[in-house]
Amino acid sequence: MLIRQDGAALRVDAPAKLNLFLEVLGKREDGFHELETLMVTISLHDTLRFTEEPTPEIRLRCHGRGVVDGTVPSGDGNLVVRAARLLQEHSGTSRGVTVDLWKRIPVSAGLAGGSTDAAATLVALDRLWELGLAAEELLTLAARLGSDVSFFVRGIPAAICRGRGEKIHPVERPLGVPVVVSRPASGLSTAEVYRHCQVSSRPLSVQPLVDSLADGRLTAASRFLHNSLQQTATTLNSEVTDLITRLDRQPVVASAMTGSGTACFGLCSSDRLARRISRRLCGTGVPWATAVRAGV
Ligand code: ATP
Repeated sequence: MLIRQDGAALRVDAPAKLNLFLEVLGKREDGFHELETLMVTISLHDTLRFTEEPTPEIRLRCHGRGVVDGTVPSGDGNLVVRAARLLQEHSGTSRGVTVDLWKRIPVSAGLAGGSTDAAATLVALDRLWELGLAAEELLTLAARLGSDVSFFVRGIPAAICRGRGEKIHPVERPLGVPVVVSRPASGLSTAEVYRHCQVSSRPLSVQPLVDSLADGRLTAASRFLHNSLQQTATTLNSEVTDLITRLDRQPVVASAMTGSGTACFGLCSSDRLARRISRRLCGTGVPWATAVRAGV
């Protein structure tokens, strides 16, 4: 997450994430699933600008084109508004804000666009409203907004996340791995995918992937890409199967789905190749593809 002063306002670049590994370990009594996942930020981001208001009002203006199948709520349903209200309630502040949101991260894609916007809002408003909250307090609020929000609040490029995603163990690698990311025309609801998913009877460990990436062995690492939600997502949405097939026809080192889908990604041996593959995918009718770096 990159935060810059913009006159009296704060401007934040809020990154998307990929899950290079995701194992479902169990279903919990609170309805959530117990996970082990390797999350990495990528160089695709939304941009948010926070301008203080003299009244306690919270206003959101969404901008941006090119969001595939974008159903971004503009009012109280938006995670930006929910995060700002939660911070007002928690701190008792009577300060308000206008948030301009330039949306670039495709929605309902497993890229955590809503969660990263929520995290950006918590961190930026803590600063803009001069609340001085402790890091632990921000993390507690983050966990109330969503499972992935805590990872973004930490502002780190890569972490193993456990529990429902809120137990975070930073990892030093991967740094700057070239990746092509693509999303088919339709998205998937995270809740629906988890409702239908199977708990792994023989769970895999994330460690071999982390170790190979730490050594910079991309080809070895590619054997350990894993997402146990992929099977469910392909059953619910055949466009995911089609996209993985298209990616595997390209010279990617390996491919997988991210989060609960429907976006998929391919690890690439160079930035140039990632760009070429993204152009080729778009040329064959895939609605959205882009070359990014993971773990930045
Ligand atoms: P995750 O990987 O965290 O499960 P996702 O990437 O699959 O999430 P999001 O793009 O975060 O999905 O959107 C999930 C839902 O959140 C959508 O129904 C969307 O309408 C809603 N939403 C609320 N606020 C936002 C926001 N700021 N940006 C995008 N979606 C938002």
